[in-house]
Amino acid sequence: MASISIALSKGRIYDETAPLLARVGIRPRENPEHSRKLVIGTQRRDMRLIVVRASDTPTYVQHGGADLGIAGRDVLAEHGGEGLYQPVDLGIARCRMMVAVRKGFDYQGAVRRGARLRVATKYVNTTREHFAAKGVHVDLIRLYGSMELAPLTGLADAIVDLVSTGRTLRANGLAAVEEIMAVSARLIVNQAALKTKRAQLQPLIEAFARAAVR
Ligand code: ADP
Ligand code: MG
Repeated sequence: MASISIALSKGRIYDETAPLLARVGIRPRENPEHSRKLVIGTQRRDMRLIVVRASDTPTYVQHGGADLGIAGRDVLAEHGGEGLYQPVDLGIARCRMMVAVRKGFDYQGAVRRGARLRVATKYVNTTREHFAAKGVHVDLIRLYGSMELAPLTGLADAIVDLVSTGRTLRANGLAAVEEIMAVSARLIVNQAALKTKRAQLQPLIEAFARAAVR
């Protein structure tokens, strides 16, 4: 039997994926959160987990480094989704991708005036497309973390980041002003693997669909 691998990331994705794996009947031999191993076996001899950085998950699956993966819609939008099937919205790791500014910054006014906005984000492709569709000119500033700092330090007028409760924004004097997309994690599949390993992958995809959170 061919071996099947599932790419996923530690942190929020694994926290919320662990119960899904249990419902699908996959038992990891070690907890990826605590293990230093990046390839983790399961009780199924034909199946292993590959532990990757969240933003690398689509790349691993696209190029066949893993057959399946679990990735947020944020990361998939930024990657572009090339070479991937996205058959199941797992309904986990829900949040929203939002535009946020300093409290008191007149975002709608700046947009109406046709002002050029400096926007800091790690989602540069998604952000570029969002503002292009609105006809707003932006200078993008690529950051890798702690986006909230950018408006506070004068680095940017606005940020594009994920928001769930809004507590981090509020704690830093920021406010969300526009939603770009609702985010949840998806099961993704390498398109070639779906053809060559269909007999193994199809039942697994169906099991994930049944285990998804509605
Ligand atoms: P990293 O710090 O490497 O970006 P995270 O664990 O913060 O990794 O995020 C991984 C994924 O979890 C994101 O791509 C997104 O899909 C989801 N996520 C991130 N933040 C939140 C949040 N506040 N609420 C729900 N899901 C989130
Ligand atoms: Mg994070």
